[in-house]
This record gives sequence, C-alpha cells and structure tokens, in this order.
Amino acid sequence: MRIDVAALEIGQVRRAAFDEVVDSKTEDLAFDTPVRGNVEVDRTAQTLRLKGHLATTAPLMCGRCLTQFRQDLAIAVEEEFLVGGSTAPREGALRPEDFVFPLGPDLVLDVTEAVRQHLLLAVPMVPVCRPDCRGLCPRCGKNLNAQDCGCEPVETIDPRLAPLRDLKDTRRE
Ligand SMILES: [Zn+2]
Ligand SMILES: [Zn+2]
Repeated sequence: MRIDVAALEIGQVRRAAFDEVVDSKTEDLAFDTPVRGNVEVDRTAQTLRLKGHLATTAPLMCGRCLTQFRQDLAIAVEEEFLVGGSTAPREGALRPEDFVFPLGPDLVLDVTEAVRQHLLLAVPMVPVCRPDCRGLCPRCGKNLNAQDCGCEPVETIDPRLAPLRDLKDTRRE
C-alpha cells in the first residue's frame, strides 16, 4: 500500500484498511498470510504521522527443537516525521531522508515497507514453539518433545557447585 501524502491536505486524516501479504525480503522468513489491520496517516504543516495496528501469523522455526510452528504477530506502528516546509527543521528533528521508510521526494509513503520493518522487529530473535519446549537432545539429537531418548543429561552444572548439589540430593532422600 502506498499513500500519496502530497495529496493530503494539511489537517487531513486518511484512514485505510490494510490487507496484504507482505514480502519479508529476508532469507529464512516468509510471511505467507495477509497482514490485516488499519492504518491512519495524518498530515500537519510540518509532519506526517503514520499509525496502525496490524496482525498476522507467520511460520517460524523453533530455535530449540527446529520444528516449524506458527506464531501470531501483532504490531503497533507509530511513526512521525517531518515533510519539509520552508522553515528549517528544528534541532534533532527528522527529515524524510533520515527515515528508513521510503518516503520519496514525491511524498508517497510506502506503508507496506513500514509494516514490513515493524513485522521483522516483532519476530523474536530466537523463536520458541512453546514456552516449555524441551528442544533437541544434545547427545543424540532427538526431539525431546516427542520422546525421551534415555540419554544421560549433559552435565551443565559448574563443577565447583557439584558438592552443593550432592548435598541437596542427599537431603531430599
Ligand atoms: Zn520447539
Ligand atoms: Zn538423546
């Protein structure tokens, strides 16, 4: 979706329903379901504000057990930027060229690109299929969610703390 901001009069608000499959433009990540929601652009003399609430679901790979699962993603977009004008931008204010969202000199705002970038930020760095995912056995590689493999657990306890653990085990008996 592209919105021609130049065509918006100052003080005018443009609301639109967003419903698109967004290309992630990122390897290993394919948004395959339409992103749906509402966006709103409002224009003042100096600024342009883009707001929106959108949601979709994306196929992700669990970082622990390496299976694919679907995760709901919800994003709130809120961006404000200057759209020029004759006065010099105030200190620290952002100009169209400062924005990562394409807002060309023609003042056509690429809403899809803004949504894409927010979606990428909403994807967890290490997606997990469920909070209690047990992951793969570090010894034999089996998916521990499906079955116990019977391997000895890998010793991850600091050897210096082992005496304490032994103590605890003894007490429990
Ligand atoms: Zn998992
Ligand atoms: Zn195992």
